[in-house]
Amino acid sequence: MRRIDLHVHTTASDGTFSPAETVSLAHSLGLSAIAITDHDTVSGYSEAAAEGRKLDIEVIPGIELSTNYKGAVHILGYFIDPAHPELCRELQQIIDERDSRNRRIAARMQDDGINVSYDAMKERFGGSIGRPHFAEILMEHHLASSTADAFRRFLNKGGQYWIPRTLPSLEQCITLIRAAGGIPVLAHPFEYTYQQKSLPELIEVCMGFGLQGIECRHSIHDTGQMVYLEHLADEYGLLKTGGSDFHGEVKPDIRLGCGKGLLSVPEIWLDELKRAKQQS
Ligand code: AMP
Ligand code: FE
Ligand code: FE
Ligand code: ZN
Repeated sequence: MRRIDLHVHTTASDGTFSPAETVSLAHSLGLSAIAITDHDTVSGYSEAAAEGRKLDIEVIPGIELSTNYKGAVHILGYFIDPAHPELCRELQQIIDERDSRNRRIAARMQDDGINVSYDAMKERFGGSIGRPHFAEILMEHHLASSTADAFRRFLNKGGQYWIPRTLPSLEQCITLIRAAGGIPVLAHPFEYTYQQKSLPELIEVCMGFGLQGIECRHSIHDTGQMVYLEHLADEYGLLKTGGSDFHGEVKPDIRLGCGKGLLSVPEIWLDELKRAKQQS
């Protein structure tokens, strides 16, 4: 059986492996296809695709957008056109907004005597900067012992260095992905603060905006949750997807292709995604 992973971050956002390194790692693990789903950017795709052609691994252009709907919600987009003008324009706005939030986090750290320059961070990390990069800075200043510790103590909602982002709406995220030729999928439904009982409502709202799939298999979903989500997807006639949400060293317990060890994503789910793309 060919193994695939449809949820992968690189240094283009908050992963720690470059797009080429990620594809090369996928190759060494025997994967046949991966989707690059960086937060708010498609800038990692072309490098990953070039490496994919070299190593004969299929690389799918994707994205992960953050929004709020009674709490945090993430929407994945598959087979988007990375050069789509409206997509590029909207992503630039999201990135600019992220940038101004980041500058405020850095300023707050400086006020507390932490020697951090946001321009230097941009130079060093490249790509789309996020809280995991600030976690790195906090660790370097011995203020946190790990990424998780930095989030827990400083970067989560309510923490000293938590500054909310102004996000596109749920409808905007889904519409934008579709406008760029992509297939919108509700990411890791059990990572949110939703109770299981309110998930159908969220799915129905998303479907009203054009949602086409649910990420059923994910590193943080337990077996019961995965079975439940696959059942929900079938009931609603939605596509099923899955992936590890690999981020490299910032989430050391999550491995490419197998998540916390047992994750596997049926290749037929990718075939069905492709069929939906052809029909759209
Ligand atoms: P941002 O988009 O800059 O607000 O950062 C959010 C990102 O931080 C998420 O997409 C996760 O990848 C990452 N993140 C959130 N919580 C944690 C955590 N406890 N440990 C590592 N990474 C985290
Ligand atoms: Fe992330
Ligand atoms: Fe996510
Ligand atoms: Zn992700």
